[in-house]
Amino acid sequence: MTVRTVLDDIRRRPGTGEVIPVIDPATEDQITEFTDGGAAAVDEAVARARATFESGVWRGLPGRERAKIMWRIADLIEEHADELNRLDSLNAGMPLIAAQMILPTCAEMFRYYAGWCTKTEGNAYDVQMTTGITGSAADLHAYTLKEPFGVVGLIFPWNGPIFNACAKLAPALAAGCSSVVKPAEETPLSAIVLERILAEAGVPDGVVNLVLGYGHTAGAALSAHPGVDKIAFTGSTEVGKLIVQAASGNLKKVMLELGGKSPVLIFDDADVETAVFSAAMGIFVHSGQGCVCGSRVFVQRGVYDQVVEGLAGMANTLRLGGPSEEGAVIGPLISQKQLTRVMGFVDEGKRDGVEVVTGGHRLDRRGYFVHPTVLTNVDRGMRLYQQEIFGPVVTVLPFDDEDEGVALANDTAYGLAGSVYTQNLSRAHRLAKRLEAGTITLNCQLVYDHALPFGGYKQSGWGREFGKDGIEAYLQTKTVYAQL
Ligand code: NAP
Ligand code: MG
Repeated sequence: MTVRTVLDDIRRRPGTGEVIPVIDPATEDQITEFTDGGAAAVDEAVARARATFESGVWRGLPGRERAKIMWRIADLIEEHADELNRLDSLNAGMPLIAAQMILPTCAEMFRYYAGWCTKTEGNAYDVQMTTGITGSAADLHAYTLKEPFGVVGLIFPWNGPIFNACAKLAPALAAGCSSVVKPAEETPLSAIVLERILAEAGVPDGVVNLVLGYGHTAGAALSAHPGVDKIAFTGSTEVGKLIVQAASGNLKKVMLELGGKSPVLIFDDADVETAVFSAAMGIFVHSGQGCVCGSRVFVQRGVYDQVVEGLAGMANTLRLGGPSEEGAVIGPLISQKQLTRVMGFVDEGKRDGVEVVTGGHRLDRRGYFVHPTVLTNVDRGMRLYQQEIFGPVVTVLPFDDEDEGVALANDTAYGLAGSVYTQNLSRAHRLAKRLEAGTITLNCQLVYDHALPFGGYKQSGWGREFGKDGIEAYLQTKTVYAQL
């Protein structure tokens, strides 16, 4: 499919609700539009998913057959890399090079989970205890079965459209679930290509159902739907709480990958040059629109000035621009709404006496570009210090010793990620234990492998994606006792 075909395809899809414009965030121009499918589209999609789950057309296939189809999906993702990259960079505003770096992980994710199709297994138990009413433990045989959850609703944000879709679909398909997929209303384009790829690879009709629409319409209907067995959601903590409420009607299970306010601790003994480079990329990449972005940097006093200066230098060096602009490494924010939100935090901080070392303003041009921003003199009570900004804004605070650094780092409602820079190996691993977060990176940031579990402590989530945990999330365990 060419970019043009996708823009036309989405415009023609039926819907019942509002017409939603799709905007190029680098130019603020409308590139296409689509109609919100709303609750009616969700009802239809859930019914289709349910029918395929009951018929066993997908979950009943031998794992090795599902695996073959998943390998085909991976191959087709690679074949269609060019259009997927163009669509995601156009739609999410990310530089083409960023989209190109992410896409191979999407194909590999399908290959990784294809491997799990033949490796989900229960256990056999030697029964030790029984009431004795119907026989002795010695006469009982017991085992567990791993079964797909059923119909799952997959809801995710705009910050990595094709990546976010694959991160949920690959394990859901591997487990044998049928699904209803709702991308963010800002970035629905690459999902249209993915839908085509799934069909071409041989995923039976109705196993994966794409629903387009707003979160408060289609997303809310999906989360509340009595025919859905589980919701896997990636997004803000605020919406995560709404999902939990909506899910309570049929007590559907919920997996949440939520926001972060991740701390970065830089010690006096760190390789400061590396730390500054990684910490700067760790917040400014993708204009800070990454869940693991290190938005709170804490620096031991001996190197504090050097780090602040280094981060500001990086902030002033990184070139901003749209996907088609030569040399751009950082794109715009996704929308006017995000721009208003991010600048709201910064302007409030300025009024409250925060020192803007660099940035603190949008660029004087079209597109939702915000200059990478370094803030000091931040008070721990400030909203910008406590809440996730999801923009290219970092606060830098000094600390004296390890205990103070850890206390500052853990002083947040979030717990998605944390990073430590030090040459002291013992301290590095000690802090890996002391930081309250689901992922810790030592002397690095922005590292990722979908073979390793990922998820949040505290209000950053429920459950884990990726790795073995990732397939388990789409399976449930059944226990079987048999009288011999
Ligand atoms: P968001 O507003 O929470 O939206 C995420 C998704 O939920 C979108 O598809 C959205 O639809 C939908 N949604 C909104 N309201 C809903 C409702 N009432 N019921 C059901 N679904 C609803 O998040 P965002 O602003 O798009 O993305 C940024 C957030 O995602 C940040 O907080 C970031 O930290 C988090 N995130 C977390 C991870 C992780 O793995 N932990 C990864 C990436 C991003 P519409 O957009 O169509 O309204
Ligand atoms: Mg949204």
